Amino acid sequence: MTTPIAEVRRRLESHSSPNASGGMTWTEWAEFTELAGQLDFGCRFDCDGCQGNKASCNSWTGETTGCCGHCSDAIGYLLQVDASRIDEMVSLWNEETGWARPDGCALPRELRSGLCTTYRCYEVQEETSPDEYKAWEAFRDYSHGRGNTIEELRAIVQDAGLIQLEPVC
Ligand code: SF4
Ligand code: SF4
Repeated sequence: MTTPIAEVRRRLESHSSPNASGGMTWTEWAEFTELAGQLDFGCRFDCDGCQGNKASCNSWTGETTGCCGHCSDAIGYLLQVDASRIDEMVSLWNEETGWARPDGCALPRELRSGLCTTYRCYEVQEETSPDEYKAWEAFRDYSHGRGNTIEELRAIVQDAGLIQLEPVC
């Protein structure tokens, strides 16, 4: 499904909020998403790596956009939007693919939704080590305004050696 740009602006404006997911200020959210970008959530955007979204796999190229294949109809799964960034978000919109691009998400990390920032399908959860699972749970809970402080999240990532030099997307 495609979503016209006028509809995207309308939806973003209707979701504008003084706070991000979990009640964070937008500055706190930016710090959180930057840290989350260093964690390997286990997604691989190829047909073998993306276990939970086989339906979007291109059997010719072996590639998939995974959950991001639904970006246009889901409008990035956004529930809260920083009103001061709406013009920038609209300018990056593609009516067919949303913010998804072949090499990842066009949105700066701090403009992505809570779901985009922490979602892990059941299949990925099943494959992860206990350390990875614990780290992911801490990030998911933090994004909902529960659990650890950002300093504790940073320590969890560093202790488990889960930092990615090259963020996946
Ligand atoms: S969370 Fe699962 S379905 Fe979504 S992109 Fe990652 S591996 Fe694919
Ligand atoms: S990560 Fe980016 S491309 Fe993927 S669903 Fe979220 S907003 Fe869309």
